[in-house]
Amino acid sequence: MGSRVTLAFHGAAGTVTGSRYLLEVDERRVLVDCGLFQGYKHLRERNWRPFPVEPSTIEAVFLTHAHLDHSGYLPRLVKDGFSGPVYCTQATRDLCRILLLDSAKLQEEEAAFRNRHQYSKHQPALPLYTQHDAKKALELFEVVGFSMPENPMPGVSLGNIEVGFYPNGHILGSSYLDVQAGGRHILFSGDVGRGNDLVMRPPEFPIYCDYLVVESTYGNRLHDNRDVWEVVGDIINETVSGGGSVLIPSFAVGRAQSMLYLITELRRREMIPYLPIFLDSPMAISVTELMQRHHRYHRLNKTTCQQLSRDVTFTRDVEDSIAINKVQVPAIILSASGMATGGRVLHHLQRMLGDHRNTVMFAGYQAPGTRGARLVAGERKIKIFNRYFDVKARVESLDFLSAHADRLELLRWLQQLPTAPKRCFVTHGEEEASDEFRISISEELGWNACVPDMGDKVIL
Ligand SMILES: [Zn+2]
Repeated sequence: MGSRVTLAFHGAAGTVTGSRYLLEVDERRVLVDCGLFQGYKHLRERNWRPFPVEPSTIEAVFLTHAHLDHSGYLPRLVKDGFSGPVYCTQATRDLCRILLLDSAKLQEEEAAFRNRHQYSKHQPALPLYTQHDAKKALELFEVVGFSMPENPMPGVSLGNIEVGFYPNGHILGSSYLDVQAGGRHILFSGDVGRGNDLVMRPPEFPIYCDYLVVESTYGNRLHDNRDVWEVVGDIINETVSGGGSVLIPSFAVGRAQSMLYLITELRRREMIPYLPIFLDSPMAISVTELMQRHHRYHRLNKTTCQQLSRDVTFTRDVEDSIAINKVQVPAIILSASGMATGGRVLHHLQRMLGDHRNTVMFAGYQAPGTRGARLVAGERKIKIFNRYFDVKARVESLDFLSAHADRLELLRWLQQLPTAPKRCFVTHGEEEASDEFRISISEELGWNACVPDMGDKVIL
C-alpha cells in the first residue's frame, strides 16, 4: 500500500511572500521554504500567528533559496521548537548567514524603537526573533550539492522522502526542488530565473514530476526587452557630460552585483568614461565577496570578478561612506536599500536630489508606497528623516531588470517538462498574476492548474 501524502499551503498563496509548504508523508512532516511575510501590514501580522503545526513535529526544512520571503521565518520556527536540519545549497547557507542576522538586527531595532516611542499595543514590544535566535537557526544548516537534470539524483535521503536541488538561475545558490515523497515526485519551482541574466546562468530545465508547485510573480506580465547596456550607458554618459553623478539604489543581494558588473564592463569597453565607482552598503559588499568566492554558481569568470574589486571602491566603514561626499568629480554610487526605504542610500539622496545635474537610477521593482515608487512616479518633494527635500535630479527606473522569469519565460520553462503533471499549483504571486498564469497554463499547455488559498491542504 502506498503512503498518504498531503501538501498544505501556509504562505505564498494569493501573495508573493511567506513561502511555506508543509508536506506530510504518513506521520512524517517536512517543510519546503520557511519565509517571512512582507509588505502590507495585514501580511506582516501573519508572522506573529503561531505556526499551523507544532514546529517540534517538523523533521526537516528544505530551502529553495536565501531571500527572506523564503528563509526569513526560520529563526522564529527554531525559537518555537523546531530543531531538525535545514537543507540547502552552500551559497544559500552563506547568504542566509548574512540575511538572517541582518533581519534579526532589524527586528530588534524596530522593537527598541517602538518601546522608545511607545507605538506598540504590546508592552514591551518584542522582536519576532533576535540575533541569538538567528544564530541558533544557522547552526542547523546542512549543505547539499546541486543535482543536474541530465543525471537526476536526490541530494538528501530521509527514508521515503528524498530531495534533489537543481539550479534555477534566480540568485546565488537558488534551486528548484524535486521532492520524492511516498513514491510521488513533487517539483517546487522556487523563484525561477531568466535565460539572459547578466550574472546568473539560465535555469536548468525541469525534470519529471507528478505534481508541480510553480511561482507566478510575473505570471501576467512580460519584461521589456530594451538593451540594458545601451540604456544604462546612455543615462551615465548624459549625466556625466553635464557634470552630475549617478546614484543607484539597489538590493544588496543580486541586483547590486549585476549593476556592478554592468558598470565595470561598460567602463572596460570604454562605453562610459573613467570615473570613480563606489559600492556603499556593507551587506552588498559581503554578498559581492561571496559571489567572488562561488564561481560555480554564476556566469562571471575569475578575471571579471577581480575586475569588480579592482575598479570599485568598497566602503564598508561609516567614515569611508561619509568620505564619498567629498568627491568633487562625477561618480557612480551604488547603495542600499533598493526601494530607498532605509539604509545609507538615504544620506546620498539627501545630498544629491536637489541638484538637477544628478541622476537617481532605480534598478528594480518599486513596491507601492515606498519612497522609491514615489520618486519614480515623479513626486517633486520627498520626505527623508522628517525633512522634505526638493527633487531636482533626474529619476530613472530600470524596472525591466528582474531576477524573475516573466509569463512567457515561465511557460517556456514549463514546456520543457517531459510530461504534463497531474496537477499544477500556482503560488507566489499577487492574486491577479497567479490567476492569469493559471489560465495560461490551462489554455496554452492544456494542464490541470489551480491557485490554492492560504491554509489549503490537498491529498497527492
Ligand atoms: Zn527570491
